[in-house]
Amino acid sequence: MRDDVKPMFAANWKMHLGPDETETFVDRFGALHSARQDARVVFFPPYLSVGAFLASARTRPDLGVGVQDVHQEVNGAHTGAVSAPMAKQVGVGWALAGHSERRREFGDDDVTVAAKVARILEADLRPVLCVGETLEEREAGALEAVLSRQIEIVLASLAPDSLSLLTYAYEPVWAIGTGRTASPDDAAQAHTVVRREIGRCGGRDDAVILYGGSVKPGNIEELLEAPGVDGVLVGGASLDPESFAAICAGGG
Ligand code: PEP
Repeated sequence: MRDDVKPMFAANWKMHLGPDETETFVDRFGALHSARQDARVVFFPPYLSVGAFLASARTRPDLGVGVQDVHQEVNGAHTGAVSAPMAKQVGVGWALAGHSERRREFGDDDVTVAAKVARILEADLRPVLCVGETLEEREAGALEAVLSRQIEIVLASLAPDSLSLLTYAYEPVWAIGTGRTASPDDAAQAHTVVRREIGRCGGRDDAVILYGGSVKPGNIEELLEAPGVDGVLVGGASLDPESFAAICAGGG
């Protein structure tokens, strides 16, 4: 963690916690976690739970809210999809793009991810661009090439003056939901590559880069101590208020 950067703790709920469970979560989490001036906390609930989150957290402006994905177009005949301007209208401030589950299950390729990031920025939301390699790619020695490609295609498609608005999440696919965490050294090494590629493509080399992949209360401190890790994106361990509150106390 860098001294001059506020750590960010982000919760990706995926397809968990409906509106009723969201209300219960926010009540409990709010009791456990006091606002921290020195950190940022952002939740990415499922679309249908966003309203419940915003209503339950109305007295907690310190808790940011985002959506887990947006469509690459602003409207049209795309059954089941939600656009960035719609997300903006309901009052969220953030959106993920390029999560590995979207890439794998829904076929989001780099060009689609680039279009999604563009729509997110046009809607005046803050994007978190997720990048990361599969186990096969890592074992084939393609870590740097994969990260470079995923970053370059997105950044090359954006206006140079918007590049400073991106937050990044390095999430090795082999560590997501598997209980297998990248070691702090692995994370630091990959974050160095991500930071270098962001700079090479015209982005800010002091951009905020989160680590994601089986983060839990037991490994948060060592991950935050890894050079270049500015925070975390948490899936499974963010579904339990106790465990996510413990993670959000990290680095404090
Ligand atoms: C994620 O989905 O972004 C993630 C990191 O999941 P988990 O923490 O469960 O590995």
